[in-house]
Amino acid sequence: MGNGSTVQTNFRLMLKPNQKTCPECGEKLIGRVDKKFCSDQCRNSFNNKLNSDSTNLVRNINNILRKNRRVLEELNKKGSKTIVSKDILLLKGFNFTYHTHTYTTQKGYKYFFCYEQGYLFLEDKNQYLLVTQRDEEK
Ligand SMILES: [Zn+2]
Repeated sequence: MGNGSTVQTNFRLMLKPNQKTCPECGEKLIGRVDKKFCSDQCRNSFNNKLNSDSTNLVRNINNILRKNRRVLEELNKKGSKTIVSKDILLLKGFNFTYHTHTYTTQKGYKYFFCYEQGYLFLEDKNQYLLVTQRDEEK
């Protein structure tokens, strides 16, 4: 049993470099142990894909945040505190998933911000109080 497992371990170690495959095309990698791709072409297209995926994600979230900011700004045109329903926010395309930061007052009220535009959920009214960052800095 002892011999068997030793042989098996050695066998696996010997095979290991060859078991790695190119993450782009799936070809077995031959050559240096630290080789990650079968060719420069595969490396480039893999990295391009990776970059464009993360770039798209960042772009999409940035767009949502900017849209959210625009919606809040539009609804809070007066600049003074405005109260709106959730339906109006959703109707305007507001996305509650994303915000840039939060601010919790000493009394425990948690404001959500998309840049300088923010809102606070008023539980008793089941509505949203719109604010701008400047209001909270006082
Ligand atoms: Zn490849």
